[in-house]
Amino acid sequence: MTDSITRFQQALAGVERILLTTHVNPDGDAVGGTLAMRALLELAGKTAEIIMSDEVPEKYRFLVDRPPHLIAEGTLESVVAAGRFEMVVFVDASERSRVGSVLDSLGDWCVEGAIEVNIDHHLSNDRFGDIAIVDPERASAAEVVFDIGLQMGLGITPSIATQLYAGVLTDTGRFQYSNTTIEALAAASRLVEAGADPALIADRIYAQRPLMFYRLLGRLLAHLEIHHEGRTALMYLSGELIDEIYPEGGMDTEGIVDYTVQIAGVEVGAFVRQVGPDRFRASLRSHGRVNVREIAEALAGGGHDSAAGCSLEGESSEVRERLLAEIAGKLP
Ligand code: 5GP
Ligand code: MN
Repeated sequence: MTDSITRFQQALAGVERILLTTHVNPDGDAVGGTLAMRALLELAGKTAEIIMSDEVPEKYRFLVDRPPHLIAEGTLESVVAAGRFEMVVFVDASERSRVGSVLDSLGDWCVEGAIEVNIDHHLSNDRFGDIAIVDPERASAAEVVFDIGLQMGLGITPSIATQLYAGVLTDTGRFQYSNTTIEALAAASRLVEAGADPALIADRIYAQRPLMFYRLLGRLLAHLEIHHEGRTALMYLSGELIDEIYPEGGMDTEGIVDYTVQIAGVEVGAFVRQVGPDRFRASLRSHGRVNVREIAEALAGGGHDSAAGCSLEGESSEVRERLLAEIAGKLP
């Protein structure tokens, strides 16, 4: 880590314009880590812009000091007209393809041979890029960004501390998952020292959810399925239910999967939601005895040992059967 940060620092000396991006459906760590990395690069005197595939979810907008550019927006032309990027920084993406449609245009936005930097904490990270600053021991990408800021001697402003704290908080499931290490708590503590307000951040992220979120949660809990003699819990969200509860879009399902694995006796919790005709996303959580990353990888996804995900294609009952069979094969 220290060596790769040094190499990053050396590479930075030779570039001016830097593009940052993160994974599709950004979570708190993706949003907080990417915004903080941009702020740090600006403190280092660089021009830095974020372009991402999906919008910042409502509950993380309080972290946004300057809005990132969205691939779907028409404002990208002016960003690129100002000059091509000489470096691309990927934050919280275990593989290049996780950043979605941003990947298709990198060639148009960047100079040839632009340096690719991979800042992440996923065990499944394939170390893509010219410089990989990847630490699977870290609970969040935000902690890796924090390490970079500290090693480079850049000041951690209260705004950066808030963005990074949000990443640590959300990726440890409010300091509840097994990745809640001494290091994660120490980073959180130092971020509070630097100006992050734990109660305010937790309130914004967890205590200001729209009523519709709880209506949806109620429906999903009422239809929760228990399989494999109580060891697997599965929640299924159909396209029809999404349309009924969120007719205007803007659905937010982050955290719903946690309920599946908070049931006594359940080893694996799965949340499957429809994202298109015959297309689904699955989120998987484990109590720690079953490695859900391996289950997700068997289905072309990835993630962490206790929290992973994948995309699935096919008819809804067939997709669920495939997932349940994969889980069954890994149960103790
Ligand atoms: P979530 O269930 O919250 O969407 O994702 C849990 C974890 O698995 C996150 O660390 C996320 O980055 C990872 N993950 C989710 N879906 C995928 C996927 O399709 N591919 C890969 N490589 N990782 C995923
Ligand atoms: Mn993360």
